[in-house]
Amino acid sequence: MSQTEAAASHAKAPNDLESLWLPFTPNRHFKRDPRLVARAKDMHYFKPDGTPVLDGTAGLWCANAGHCRDKIVSAIQAQAAELDFAPSFQFSHPKAFEVANQLVAMTPEGLDYAFFCNSGSEAADTALKMAIAYHRANGEASRTRLIGRERGYHGVGFGGISVGGMSPNRKFYGSLLPGVDHLPHTYNRAEQAFTRGEPAWGAYLADELQRLVDLHDASTIAAVIVEPMAGSTGALPPPQGYLKRLRELCDKHGILLIFDEVITGFGRLGHATAAERFGVTPDIMTFAKGVTSAAVPMGGAMVGRHVYEAFQSGPDHMIDLFHGYTYSGHPLAMAAALATFELYREEGLFERARANEAAFADAAFTLKGHPLVLDIRTIGMVAAFDLAPVEGLMGKRGYDAMCNAFHEQNIMVRVSGDTIAFSPPLIIEEAQMGELFERFKKALDAVA
Ligand code: PMP
Repeated sequence: MSQTEAAASHAKAPNDLESLWLPFTPNRHFKRDPRLVARAKDMHYFKPDGTPVLDGTAGLWCANAGHCRDKIVSAIQAQAAELDFAPSFQFSHPKAFEVANQLVAMTPEGLDYAFFCNSGSEAADTALKMAIAYHRANGEASRTRLIGRERGYHGVGFGGISVGGMSPNRKFYGSLLPGVDHLPHTYNRAEQAFTRGEPAWGAYLADELQRLVDLHDASTIAAVIVEPMAGSTGALPPPQGYLKRLRELCDKHGILLIFDEVITGFGRLGHATAAERFGVTPDIMTFAKGVTSAAVPMGGAMVGRHVYEAFQSGPDHMIDLFHGYTYSGHPLAMAAALATFELYREEGLFERARANEAAFADAAFTLKGHPLVLDIRTIGMVAAFDLAPVEGLMGKRGYDAMCNAFHEQNIMVRVSGDTIAFSPPLIIEEAQMGELFERFKKALDAVA
């Protein structure tokens, strides 16, 4: 058989579904009844037959300015024609500096440097590596231990899943990174159910960090990483005072505090960052998603001056940080980020999210009392619903049936475990909030 004949014998129709292996998806069930979108604009996706789908999740918590915004689209088009790529090691291009400068202005004082990568997972691993290398550069090579949190999500790299706290993401992958501990998560339904914003109960859980210091000694601990609001495990806002307490303990013991702001950055909680909203500044802050409103993959880490400086004056064998990606600061991502920042400013989208917080929570809380709803949590432009288990709807098939019920109602929502999360683009109108939760209720009624 010639090479051409062999290729022909493997040929498949362009719309054949078999060859693609979808991430975090029960593939076999999905392929029986695939949910596809073909186009998007502003608050909507469109199915291949043209039916609009109201986007209740900004894609995957990322299209914060809405979809296919003209300003971002034109910036990417122009950039693709002008400079497609510039080597990212020992070389750069002007827009990368411009994005870094704007990020420094948007994030809390003290975060003076920006490092770029291409995703939230890369951002998490970047931050963890920076923390360990920072202590080594400072002559404290024994500080290697990393502390994450139960129910945390920091992407899918080995670093991220090691400090992350979701067992399905960890249990299949061997022994993971050594020297990792976890703080307890901060959710307690009995104390916190149906809270808007930060729950009053639970700040004391930050003191578990002191317990880990007592156990291991501070001289072995490099960093603590938490999401200021845990996102992927059901949107868990931090208890009042919890993050401040973590900051105090990190300061006391010379431990770096890392905030994973991949979800909370760029307006999701009504401010540029969750750090700003909660009044706590980390030493390193990861970001991704909303930085380009999802139009081009991008992520990164904002870094305190002390961290950056350690690498500029380190011993001779450490000329700087031995870490980076071919596509760090990719021109298309930089162009998309600059246009996205301009949109955020021009349309006041972070302020808009802040102003809409109460209306969004009101709309979500109309489901309080629904027989399937065990808890509702809201903060910023985030709402999460914990659902009671439904007979016959467990496991992969149930998960898929749940996804289908929402797809039939033409709303995009995020199903993770027993929690359904909403995080719409920040441009959402009040009438669309009502519509979103009405259709959500219909889908729940259908499933029940
Ligand atoms: N960190 C957090 C807090 C996230 O929510 C996510 C993605 N949902 C990630 C990291 C990973 O980002 P990515 O999927 O872009 O790698």
